[in-house]
Amino acid sequence: MIALNNLHKSYFNGSNQLHVLKGIDLEIQDGELVSIMGSSGSGKSTLLNILGILDNYDEGNYYLADKLIKDLNETKAAWYRNQMIGFVFQSFNLISFKNAVENVALPLYYQGVPRKKRNRIALEFLDEMGLKDWADHLPNELSGGQKQRVAIARSLITNPNVILADEPTGALDSQTSYEVMDIFKKVNEKGITVIIVTHEKDISERTDRIIHLADGLIDKEYRPKKTMDYV
Ligand code: ADP
Ligand code: MG
Repeated sequence: MIALNNLHKSYFNGSNQLHVLKGIDLEIQDGELVSIMGSSGSGKSTLLNILGILDNYDEGNYYLADKLIKDLNETKAAWYRNQMIGFVFQSFNLISFKNAVENVALPLYYQGVPRKKRNRIALEFLDEMGLKDWADHLPNELSGGQKQRVAIARSLITNPNVILADEPTGALDSQTSYEVMDIFKKVNEKGITVIIVTHEKDISERTDRIIHLADGLIDKEYRPKKTMDYV
């Protein structure tokens, strides 16, 4: 479970203070599929980076799986990230000179898994994304949707409890965006918590719970109606 209590975050630029998060209270249960919405500059990425232990916060508390995540040194932060969290980004962040299977296998390389073994496991994850036949293709030979599916496979290969995705459909057309959202739904159905930052309403409506940020606070929270069939 994720729990935030009265979380504050400011950026300091010389003598200027920008107070971005002004007391966030939030609980996300294991296995939820959640979106974080809000206009540009409302602090969505800031919040997601704190959840991903990529950035610190100033005040309040963040508990991840009952562990207080606060003022960790980089070694400890990296350990928690590697154990629990997978990341997906708007711009895919694939390595251009590595093929699809090597990109997916990369987290296992950092864990010291031998090449043959990590590539075999990576191929299974690619297969689940419907990309087995694209394993030896470089990122620039893949469509946007295919690249994002490679990135999702890479985020899953370490068996994380939580996937954090920052505008994962921001570079994709609507049809491809919906396909990627279907994949997140499948990932979530395996019990993995999925948290998606988006500023697009139709994307947020494909999650089970929408958390809306404005002026540094959660100003509303709701569950989208599921009356309309997805097209
Ligand atoms: P969003 O993802 O909702 O668009 P961000 O969390 O990226 O919003 O940014 C919130 C505010 O904080 C913006 O005004 C942005 O310019 C500012 N900001 C973000 N990152 C930094 C940083 N590293 N240093 C200073 N200001 C930042
Ligand atoms: Mg952002």
